[in-house]
Amino acid sequence: MAHVILSVESVRRTKLSAILRALHEDGPQSRSQLGTRLAMSRSMVADLVADLGARGLVREDTPDPSGMPGRPSPVVQLAADSIAVLAAEVAVDSLAVALVGLGGQMRSVARIPHNPGRLRAEETVGDLTLLANELLARAPRGCVVAGVGVAFYGVVRRSDGFVHYAHNLGWRGVPLGLLLQQSLGMAAPVTVANDADLGALAEHTRGAGRGADDMIYLASEIGIGGGIIANGRPLAGTAGAAGEVGHIPVNSNGMRCYCGAIGCWETEAGETALLRHAGRECGPPCHDCVAEVLADAARGEPIARAAVETIGHWLGVGLALLVNIFNPERIVLGGFFSDLYASVEAIVREQVQARAFLPARDLVSIVPATLGADTALLGAAELAFEPILADPTRVPSRKGIPATRWEPGAVSAPTSRPW
Ligand SMILES: [Zn+2]
Repeated sequence: MAHVILSVESVRRTKLSAILRALHEDGPQSRSQLGTRLAMSRSMVADLVADLGARGLVREDTPDPSGMPGRPSPVVQLAADSIAVLAAEVAVDSLAVALVGLGGQMRSVARIPHNPGRLRAEETVGDLTLLANELLARAPRGCVVAGVGVAFYGVVRRSDGFVHYAHNLGWRGVPLGLLLQQSLGMAAPVTVANDADLGALAEHTRGAGRGADDMIYLASEIGIGGGIIANGRPLAGTAGAAGEVGHIPVNSNGMRCYCGAIGCWETEAGETALLRHAGRECGPPCHDCVAEVLADAARGEPIARAAVETIGHWLGVGLALLVNIFNPERIVLGGFFSDLYASVEAIVREQVQARAFLPARDLVSIVPATLGADTALLGAAELAFEPILADPTRVPSRKGIPATRWEPGAVSAPTSRPW
């Protein structure tokens, strides 16, 4: 009857996962709130919370009973100092590493420019390792690093962190996950994913995409990338290249893109296009130049204003295509689109109304991202936490075991969710 025993264990893992995920996504809750939300009895919640506590994942506080009728239900919260992950971001112009506690709190972050003279993979990995070691040296005593998540600005295979292609870095066929695993020298697993996919994960979990199970996140920097969530699940594609929406054709009279096609969305609506229309091309687009154009447009400077409106037009044209294909409930605009959107919302909506099909166009809400510049890092942290959230029993019980003896390699089994 081994299958019956396995089934009982699997049901218990699922319930432990539900409690841990509820606390991770929504913060501290009383035992009675957890019971109501997850349809579990008081005794079951007490038993499962005790189990998570023995693993060092949660702790309980009894609220002050004064002024409250009856006995107050203990409040369960994450032991955010005991378990953390490293989140890293490899962008074209910057490198960042953060230590993020369970619950998504960023404990510390280090960001440096991605020096144009140090763009090679080995140099990038070396710089990330230095940043990671600096943060780990300052990590809370006894804190276990359970995983490493990396947001990468290119096409990457999530199963092993193999980079197929990154145009702006000039990378092709780089085993980034393996290189970083070796360089960090940690037992904790390293997982790499595309920055827009992780932006979608972060905004869906904690930002403007919460509650929308059909959503698209758009990352807009030099290029435009999309993270697509369909029916609550990420759309990855065979090679991890789903969501490369920057290369959908929007303008048959447009400019030639580096990919060889004419009028790709990112050549018409990306940062480079904004600077081109404003007559302020500056080589690789820099955030300061883009911010300057947006500020000048907000002040009414005519050329900057016209450039912003042109971007708004092409943004709307591309969004209408996405609305027709995916029928999303929500589209979350990240990167410079989130700064630009308020001033071009009417133009964007006009294009979506004119080009998208009913009823999809009336059902979609288009909103700016809310997590700011650290969206990709927060998504990378979620990626690294997923194995523990899916199965908290990967963290061994600490009953009678000193915390320092726990080996983080224990959580290296593959994630059960496709993030
Ligand atoms: Zn293209």
